[in-house]
Amino acid sequence: VEGKFVIPGEQLGISEEFMPGRWTYEEQGGIYAAVSGMVAIDMKDRRINVLPKANTPPLLKEGDVVLAKILDVKPQIALVEVIKLRGVDRALPGVVKGIIHVSKARERYVADLSTEFGFGDIVMARVVSTKREPLELSTAGKRLGVIKAFCPRCGKAMERFKQGLRCRGCRIMERRKLSMDYGSGEV
Ligand SMILES: [Zn+2]
Repeated sequence: VEGKFVIPGEQLGISEEFMPGRWTYEEQGGIYAAVSGMVAIDMKDRRINVLPKANTPPLLKEGDVVLAKILDVKPQIALVEVIKLRGVDRALPGVVKGIIHVSKARERYVADLSTEFGFGDIVMARVVSTKREPLELSTAGKRLGVIKAFCPRCGKAMERFKQGLRCRGCRIMERRKLSMDYGSGEV
């Protein structure tokens, strides 16, 4: 399979045999290509990767500003899926995961990320490190942070209200690390 050209959805192996690596995904015990490209196996950790062919969008680098969706919030870590580079219309191929550590949410000290992000929020974030996946992201900065959020109770989009957010439907209030561009329609 090494060096073989594959297309998205093509099976590369089984997860008992390999670890899913870059530009791959795992589903029901199988590992599949997320993008078109060449298969590269890292024998050291039995990781199977796909090297995207040249005309796929560039990989992310440190300093890039991206749009990402919050998948999970724990006190110390928020897990996100990177949707796209800011200002670029097409989505990234495959799934790129990132994390925001509690020390990178704001310029000032934050005790617990549950006051900063919520499940399903869309955030603008800067790539801090691409050394490993998930990528390390930061939302410290005026333009960075949540730009769209949905009510945890009724699912409606929330509007800015004083220092936080309020649901247009059920009126509950939420706290977030907001971007000054909240609700600007970037997404
Ligand atoms: Zn609501």
